[in-house]
Amino acid sequence: MKDPIPRFRSSLAQWLDAPEDRIALYWKGRVALYAILRAMGVGKGDEVLMPAFTCVVVPNAVFYAGAKPRYVDIDPDTLNVPYERFEAAITDKTRAIIAQNTFGLSTEMDRIAELGRQKGIWTIEDCTHGFGGSFKGVPNGAYCDAAFYSTQWNKPFTTGLGGIARLGHESLKEALMGVHKERIEPTPKERMVLRGSLMARDLFLTPATYGILRKSYHWLNEAGLVPGSSDPQEVEDGKMPGDYFKGMSAVQAQKGIRELERLPERLARRQKAGERYTELLENRGKWHVPRSTFPDHAFLKYPLLVRDRDRFLSEAEKAGIPLGDWFLSPLHPVKEGLERWGLDRKAVPEADRIARKVVNLPTDMEDLEKAMRFLERRMDLVE
Ligand SMILES: *Cc1c(COP(=O)(O)O)cnc(C)c1O
Repeated sequence: MKDPIPRFRSSLAQWLDAPEDRIALYWKGRVALYAILRAMGVGKGDEVLMPAFTCVVVPNAVFYAGAKPRYVDIDPDTLNVPYERFEAAITDKTRAIIAQNTFGLSTEMDRIAELGRQKGIWTIEDCTHGFGGSFKGVPNGAYCDAAFYSTQWNKPFTTGLGGIARLGHESLKEALMGVHKERIEPTPKERMVLRGSLMARDLFLTPATYGILRKSYHWLNEAGLVPGSSDPQEVEDGKMPGDYFKGMSAVQAQKGIRELERLPERLARRQKAGERYTELLENRGKWHVPRSTFPDHAFLKYPLLVRDRDRFLSEAEKAGIPLGDWFLSPLHPVKEGLERWGLDRKAVPEADRIARKVVNLPTDMEDLEKAMRFLERRMDLVE
């Protein structure tokens, strides 16, 4: 059979509106970010601006490249960093800006990319939630100098684990290819375990089994039996694991090709759910995703701000609604000791406040009405 890696790259090239030779594939999204930073020459003495509302693997990639993260507070409406805050945070050490499509929502990417050009600072889009969405008609990831995507279990489409780097222009290509040559291959065991997990998921994942599977997945992950999204080291001491810089395997690419075929249908379903949730929340005068960002938002998850989160989560579980638990901390999933990553919660009050209130409504449920009814019933807990 033909090598699935080039075939996957060619499908991605169409989705992402980029020539195939500006797309590189990795074992995980974070690895794609690391490769981009290295290709940009970001390293010792450099600082990288990023949202104070992200996944800990983002600052980790910056540390592994030898640079330091600087966290910028988010806007409580868009859950992203406004252009002005990035601008105000620039110093003479700033070498790159990472802007994120939080929960699939992209904001001001055109202005952020322009800011980077004016100041001679690289811009990178964290599109790990935003594959398939767009901003002002341009696919997420196409404004900045580079972008990275994740195809981990819960991202817009999945290959189990996986990462994609997309370059915005020719000038970075040669440098990225140089870095790319250093990658190692996933081991036969890693490939086998991943293939097994993908098959198990296809066989067993239904809304009814989601909660049980998620629990057993966490348990199996802790026991080292399924390919987890993070090495324990990555959430403990921030040191780069020895086998971090891995390329994508054929198993992942094969899965990716099939998943991309089903993506348009899923996107349509998520966008419809996003529209329905927004309508309901807007009618009740609650916080909701701002209309100004429609209709391009990919709605991977629907963020909701709640008053008594533990109660809301347990009631949702009883009602059989699979809520997401993303970004319950400014550096998901690390809850304590964020100073180790150089983040002071007090310096980023909006991100800190949102992280204490946010839950994620599902947007890909077969039975959306069930989730809508639950939301109606527990509206008293919604902000
Ligand atoms: C998931 C995620 C990543 C990393 O993706 P992996 O494929 O797990 O490495 C980076 N940034 C954000 C915001 C994410 O949610």
